[in-house]
Amino acid sequence: MLFHGVYDDAPSRSSVNHESIDPAVLDSVSKAFTRARSVLFITGAGISADSGLPTYRGIGGLYEDAGTEDGLPIEQALSGEMLRERPDVCWKYIHQIERACRGASWNRGHEVLAMLEERYDRALVLTQNVDGLHRRAGSKNVIEIHGDIHKLSCTRCSFRETVKDYAGLSFPPHCPECSAVLRPEVVLFGEMLPRDAVATLQRELERGFDLVVSIGTTSVFPYIAAPVVLARRTGRDTVEINPGTTGVSHVVAYRMQNRAAVVFDAIWRRL
Ligand SMILES: [Zn+2]
Repeated sequence: MLFHGVYDDAPSRSSVNHESIDPAVLDSVSKAFTRARSVLFITGAGISADSGLPTYRGIGGLYEDAGTEDGLPIEQALSGEMLRERPDVCWKYIHQIERACRGASWNRGHEVLAMLEERYDRALVLTQNVDGLHRRAGSKNVIEIHGDIHKLSCTRCSFRETVKDYAGLSFPPHCPECSAVLRPEVVLFGEMLPRDAVATLQRELERGFDLVVSIGTTSVFPYIAAPVVLARRTGRDTVEINPGTTGVSHVVAYRMQNRAAVVFDAIWRRL
């Protein structure tokens, strides 16, 4: 269940005319953004695609159908069990993901989300991405439900560190204090979501949001789709920004089938 940030199968970008935003929909959505006092933004790989980050199928085609080069399904290679039994194998694939993120910068989509935080009484970003780009772009109120690949912690002691990238690490990396294997603070396949993040999310959802916006995610996970469904059911404004069709496309009040960076730039100019 992990790394949806990078692995989430973001929709193909080739089949849609990204630049043609429906003016009537843009108008309605901009009004929803204007009247809201509290907003929840739910993001997936699609928002980072504009930063050149690969998605699941795109990672060098490495994991397409045939599995990893070790002949394992990626769900097995990147599992909590593999990290315990064969940290060298698990880390090899973690490293590949990090390399794919390396050097990437936030884009206009991340930037506008960060600026919008100032505008509302409450704005929260719930992201599945492990690339850390929302925080780097300036968003402060962020739930990284699948973690951040740049945060490492010891599997035995309390050692933790945040790294800019993995350059200079040896694999698997070991704890400088107790020499046990380090791990990234991300949710590996077969692992639970971080308890703190889940509790925070629950608390926020109980307070409710005037506007819920789903961005660049297929919404296959219940905890990603449910806030949208709940908002719609309780008469709140709901928007989806995604070139493709997803698990919540039939739920939202407004669909914008465009790239996130383009849409947020357009909305920002209207506020
Ligand atoms: Zn340690």
